[in-house]
Amino acid sequence: DTRHGPILYLEDVTVSFDGFRALDALTLYIDDGELRCIIGPNGAGKTTMMDVITGRTRPDSGRAFFGQRLDLLRLQETEIAQAGIGRKFQKPTVFPSHRVVENLELAMAGDRRVWPVLGARLDSAARDRIAAVLDEVGLADVAPRPAGELSHGQKQWLEIGMLLMQEPRLLLVDEPVAGMTHQEMDRTAELLTRLAGRHSVVVVEHDMEFVRSIARKVTVLHQGSVLAEGSMAEVQADPRVVEVYLGE
Ligand code: ADP
Repeated sequence: DTRHGPILYLEDVTVSFDGFRALDALTLYIDDGELRCIIGPNGAGKTTMMDVITGRTRPDSGRAFFGQRLDLLRLQETEIAQAGIGRKFQKPTVFPSHRVVENLELAMAGDRRVWPVLGARLDSAARDRIAAVLDEVGLADVAPRPAGELSHGQKQWLEIGMLLMQEPRLLLVDEPVAGMTHQEMDRTAELLTRLAGRHSVVVVEHDMEFVRSIARKVTVLHQGSVLAEGSMAEVQADPRVVEVYLGE
């Protein structure tokens, strides 16, 4: 049993855009240390869900807690990030003309003190952290290269590394393997699996083969709420899930 208590708890979250319910009484419980995949057809509400968790979108009603008691709906976007929720968007947003290692230095500094950071003397704890993250994401050998020279897959791993510099408790990862080769997908599966446990990881992904390769538990969203939840085999055998995907 991997139950350590909740890292994220959404309850009856509803988000309406001009009367259209992008999320409709969504309830979702993520265990601390879990690796969860969220799937669902276009328009199911996956992005809106991530936006609620990160404070980009305010729900009309419902509750959202991080850990045991931190009320996400009372916090601003930056406060939520500081509380330990990191989000990786689909497109990589690395600094292409800066070295890989400098990208991690910038990420460690956060938004505000960005530019004076480069060239500043790093203490040994900071250097150790950067080295550990480079190892974690498998980019130690390309650390001195400009990030713009990396492959697409490497850029995605660098961005995950940039999130790790902030030491998040929960990582939200949006379509990490879009555009990746099979080999890159395998390495990404291995990376995310390794990160779960020390961090909690929620992955939104369309690629079913990839989801099958990493997920212990899958949540299927449809029309803004949970249609099915369980192992990949369980949700794939669910006739309601089959119907939703065939109808896409
Ligand atoms: P997914 O990420 O699963 O494809 P989204 O969360 O992006 O789904 O969207 C859910 C529904 O809400 C879609 O029908 C979308 O058109 C609608 N929607 C999302 N954001 C907005 C917005 N800012 N204004 C109006 N409608 C929106």
